[in-house]
Amino acid sequence: MEKLSNPQKTIEIIKKYGFTFQKKFGQNFLIDEHVIRKIIQAAGVTKEDYVLEIGPGIGTLTQYLAEAAREVTAVEIDKKLLPILEETLADHPNVQVINNDILKVDLKALAQEKNGGRPIKVVANLPYYITTPIIMALFESHVPVENITVMVQKEVAERMKVGPGSKEYGALSLAVQYYAEPYLAANVPVNCFIPRPNVDSAVIRLTRHEAPPVLVEDEGLMFRIIRASFNQRRKTLLNGLRNSDLITADKEQILEAFKMAGIPENARGETLGLAEFAALANAFKALGVS
Ligand code: SAM
Repeated sequence: MEKLSNPQKTIEIIKKYGFTFQKKFGQNFLIDEHVIRKIIQAAGVTKEDYVLEIGPGIGTLTQYLAEAAREVTAVEIDKKLLPILEETLADHPNVQVINNDILKVDLKALAQEKNGGRPIKVVANLPYYITTPIIMALFESHVPVENITVMVQKEVAERMKVGPGSKEYGALSLAVQYYAEPYLAANVPVNCFIPRPNVDSAVIRLTRHEAPPVLVEDEGLMFRIIRASFNQRRKTLLNGLRNSDLITADKEQILEAFKMAGIPENARGETLGLAEFAALANAFKALGVS
């Protein structure tokens, strides 16, 4: 069938099925072939690959993924899209559609079943209301992933990439960079979607590190320290940690941990890099703080 990247075809299908866009599902469908090709190229999809697509919508990106990959599983929450996907993906027997919330799918089991447990590629024009939970779930659940190539809000892509010294820097930057190497593949204006979103978008590829860039004894503790320090951004790190329920240390223990990690007493969390947060977590661990 004619590709859905042609806006006329998208409008025709939407009318045919009387489909109404649901804001609560973050439904902004791509209508730009150039952007779709950019996403697939950035992900490096080949005929060897098994690809997980999150939120296929009416199947616009899925049609191209089906041609580029060996096999595709597309997980879509909105059951009203299922009859549409049946028609738009009819020419692609290598695509399986699962009607579910991506956060409820056992992705480890899926990767095992479909790819023998080897690392998979994840590709999506993400629903923006749950970008961070989806990305964190992919990293934290230890699903074998080679790379995640996704459309996100431009500002979120920035947050994933930056280091200390930028006002965008925060817990998301550190979490993403602990697990992966971010690469900004494209900026995407609002006119590449139907309906147009309120904000510009960007395609970012997160290539999973084979080994984390820092050694941390207790990842959970490090991420609690990071959250505590950015929850109270304007405070010094010392006060941020003292006032947080996420960490049980008293002032003396915090100062001792700072000394061990080589962090000045008046430091702010936003000036610390991943290596310093790792050193701080290891110091707390050595002091018996959890
Ligand atoms: N891939 C299509 C495209 O590029 O045109 C649609 C992208 S649209 C931004 C996001 C899609 O994710 C929608 O189809 C929406 O229904 C779906 N979605 C939203 N929340 C979801 C969830 N929790 N699990 C799976 N799919 C979800």
